[in-house]
Amino acid sequence: MILTKEVVKIDVQKITKSRISELDLKNLTFGHLFSDHMFVADYRNGHWEKASIMPYDKIPMAPSISALHYGQTIFEGLKAYKNEAGEVLVSRPLANVKRMNVSCERMAMPIVPEELFMEGLIELLKLDKSWVPAAAGTSLYIRPFMFSADEYIGVKPSETYKFIIFTAPVGAYYSTPLRVLVETNYIRAVEGGIGYVKAAGNYGRSLFPTSLAKKRGYEQIIWTDARNHRFIEESGTMNVMFVIDDIIITPPLGDTILAGITRDSVLTLARDWGYRVQERKISIDEICDAHKRGTLQEAFGTGTAATIAHISTIGFDGKDYDLPPVPERIFSNRVSKELDDIRRGKANDKHGWMMKI
Ligand SMILES: *Cc1c(COP(=O)(O)O)cnc(C)c1O
Repeated sequence: MILTKEVVKIDVQKITKSRISELDLKNLTFGHLFSDHMFVADYRNGHWEKASIMPYDKIPMAPSISALHYGQTIFEGLKAYKNEAGEVLVSRPLANVKRMNVSCERMAMPIVPEELFMEGLIELLKLDKSWVPAAAGTSLYIRPFMFSADEYIGVKPSETYKFIIFTAPVGAYYSTPLRVLVETNYIRAVEGGIGYVKAAGNYGRSLFPTSLAKKRGYEQIIWTDARNHRFIEESGTMNVMFVIDDIIITPPLGDTILAGITRDSVLTLARDWGYRVQERKISIDEICDAHKRGTLQEAFGTGTAATIAHISTIGFDGKDYDLPPVPERIFSNRVSKELDDIRRGKANDKHGWMMKI
């Protein structure tokens, strides 16, 4: 796909009055309030035709729009932070555009050129810089997404698409450690499916089993493999890791597991620090066994929204397996702090993860 100069030239329509006074920094929740502007690009006639930044607002659409019927809809998630000098730093945005394009391919959607994604993101963040909160635990969540836009209800890849980026200042996603239930009935993903894609349908399908787990007193599910329900896959919408006998263990990537960028950052730091890291299949039996022997030291989810979400209890087969208290967890606390320090410019960014706007 050729990116013409006109596509990167972004038409900017600024808001007339900022909504920033609605931003209550003391009571930041996750995902309710959105910054002033959004970036919008339209795909038609075989290329990205138009790119603009406009006030965040409703987007008009016909009831027949194909995304609503057949789910050619994908998204990304990343975050921006402020350092002590008030500069905005975005975490690993190129990894997101690359992953988005993996999603595009599987969903028969056109790829988003890296320049279009990055230019749009940079311009948007420059304009809405004042929406990036600086306090500990806060950040600007960035939501790029793309959907098919044909007004046509035949089942086929759409010919038109919209790519949008909007942002939301956010506080902590989970404030307390999670109770998670090992799911052995419903599945999230299957070989040959779209588990590795950030496609909307993956999340819709997870809500019902998660609501059943909630009724039983758990906050999230640990998904297991579709064939035997024996091997651990992910936890909710996060990758999952265990520390057993000082070894960091996480399921290997494949077509049933989303290649988390936080997962990659955590494993990279673990290796830097000389930890033994194993990306391999891990069964629920192995976890129960480690718990019995007293060698299950830590369990946590990794993802952009929460970074590290400590797991306090794993429910399986009618029994609760409690993990050591969070303050005793050496690795996950260390990696959580190091990632936070890198993102806020307080620790050496030796892997070049942060992009300054
Ligand atoms: C987004 C996501 C993750 C985490 O990916 P990050 O890049 O770390 O945010 C993990 N699992 C699923 C299913 C996801 O959708």
